[in-house]
Amino acid sequence: MNEKIELVSDLKADDSINRQFDKNNRGKLIDARSKFAEKRRINKFETTWLETSKNKIIQSLDSDLDNTDQLQIIINSFPQEQIAEAFALSAKSFGCSDGRTSYEGEDNLVKLGMAGGGIMLFAREVKADGRLETNVEWLSRLHESTKFKNFLKTLIDLNVKEIYGHDECGAAEKVNGKEMGKTDPLIFSEYMVLSLEEMGYYITAKHLNLEGENQMRNDIHDERMLVLDGTGRFNPEKLGFPSHFMVNSPSFNAFAGENEPIVSDKDLLNELETLCGVAKGHGFGAKFSEKEPFYIAITAKNQNQLDHLLKLAEDVKKRIPDMNIKINGYIYNN
Ligand SMILES: [Zn+2]
Repeated sequence: MNEKIELVSDLKADDSINRQFDKNNRGKLIDARSKFAEKRRINKFETTWLETSKNKIIQSLDSDLDNTDQLQIIINSFPQEQIAEAFALSAKSFGCSDGRTSYEGEDNLVKLGMAGGGIMLFAREVKADGRLETNVEWLSRLHESTKFKNFLKTLIDLNVKEIYGHDECGAAEKVNGKEMGKTDPLIFSEYMVLSLEEMGYYITAKHLNLEGENQMRNDIHDERMLVLDGTGRFNPEKLGFPSHFMVNSPSFNAFAGENEPIVSDKDLLNELETLCGVAKGHGFGAKFSEKEPFYIAITAKNQNQLDHLLKLAEDVKKRIPDMNIKINGYIYNN
């Protein structure tokens, strides 16, 4: 608490210093301003951490860390009707797992997420001369790809009515580089919509590009959890879950049939590691401790799927040994 008060008085002190600068001191003023912005950012992390710590699900999970069935107990404590509502078959919105993109859609669409809105599965390729594919080369290759077509068919099967991209996407940045992280998710999501229309499937709601503070839920990564959903229907908002990354990738293989899985275990590991890396490097990072860990909450449709996803999550945990991660699972088989 003291630390927080100190930070606020520091901010005020900085502000009065700012006012003392004259026009000839522009360089210093800008420097002071960016220092001020950085402090404000740190302050926001502090207050958001305290706020998210009040979340009931987080408090329940933190209260019994040794119990691996804690998520089952928590979800089962809700009235049956509310649980059914959280797993209702409803129309979906599809986009990046990024917790900052969660929003209350106008049409009550349930959010389905995949890191970068699936861009990690369809990254640009490096050509023989060492350069990345151009937009035209990249999109033409996707146009011919069976995997991309199966991916789109899955969106139809999952009842997706809206697709969105967002700027400054960490997942896109990871696969295609920093500059591309600004534009690729937008190009990719728009191309998905166009391709679906070409297949005769019309996205009834709008296609969105979420940009800037007004359209993003938050401007800092405040995720306390990663929800790994294998049911393809879980809506964590209905049960008051904390801010989270949403990963529905396991659901994408349910419709692949005899075809090659759309998301392999290797892809999923890569995706989960990337998102935990975002929480560690750009989110609450060092705040996650043994007593207040980052949670991976798995919702599965049966014991087999849960066992499989638990194992994958354990592998992710091993890949990031210096991050405190706790894994929990829940089976919804109605
Ligand atoms: Zn993203």
